[in-house]
Amino acid sequence: MELTNIGTVRDILSRHGFSFSKGLGQNFIINPDICPKIAEYGNAREGFGVLEIGTGIGVLTAELAKRADKVTAVEIDSRLLPILAETLEEFDNVRIVNEDVMKCDLHGLIKEEFDGLKVAVCANLPYYITSPILMLLLESRLPMESITVMVQKEAAQRLCAKVGSREAGAITVAVNYYGTVKSLFNVSRGSFMPAPNVDSAVIRIDLNDERKLDEEHERFFFRMVRAGFEQRRKTLANGLCSIMGIPKESVCSALETVGLNASARIEQLDMEQLIGLSARLIDND
Ligand code: SAM
Repeated sequence: MELTNIGTVRDILSRHGFSFSKGLGQNFIINPDICPKIAEYGNAREGFGVLEIGTGIGVLTAELAKRADKVTAVEIDSRLLPILAETLEEFDNVRIVNEDVMKCDLHGLIKEEFDGLKVAVCANLPYYITSPILMLLLESRLPMESITVMVQKEAAQRLCAKVGSREAGAITVAVNYYGTVKSLFNVSRGSFMPAPNVDSAVIRIDLNDERKLDEEHERFFFRMVRAGFEQRRKTLANGLCSIMGIPKESVCSALETVGLNASARIEQLDMEQLIGLSARLIDND
């Protein structure tokens, strides 16, 4: 079935009485070039199990299923289930899990579904929860090789920004802490049905095998990073003092040890400096 053919898509949707939910971020891909590329870049190949988040009518799911050993897709909208039963009928290596990905036991799911396989995530993410989903995937430390996702172009720019630049945010630090991020290609708004008001981009995060910090230090590091970015216009000394209650003098002397002065703001610190700062401040906690 040609799932990027507008006539075919309209026919399936109308036969099932389906109407798009804006609230669930339902913009389905109708450009035939996109999904094969996401699948290829996203490690959908022999020896891999792919976890997809948000199937829509299964246009990416089908491309993943053609290439990977197994595809397990988490989709919140039960109205899509009868549609997927039709569109993915030819594949015996796909399983749809009708759940909210934010509430799903992903560790359990991966263990159950992908025994003996390497694991990759591929998705055209619902835009309203891009950051929470990415943070969940990263912080859960799931046994995965890569996360390849389509996100809004502005979100991609933030994710791929340099840590220590004005474009960076807490999520930029997180992706660079857990792995290496790369922008792959842009996708115009006309590639979707219905067309959103923004363009998109596909990025891939290749995950590190090893932890950079021990668990306690890691928790503190991210509390510090979140606090710093919450008050990114303030100096770190003021921001960390007001949110975390760390004395200003302690922040200033810790900043000195990483080569910065009291007026430093979080967006000026690169990854090494952020880690150095947190190593100094953890004792003040
Ligand atoms: N993969 C399809 C495509 O590219 O055409 C659909 C992508 S659409 C941008 C996002 C999909 O995520 C929708 O099918 C939507 O119902 C689903 N979704 C939204 N919130 C979700 C959640 N919390 N958990 C799981 N799926 C969700």
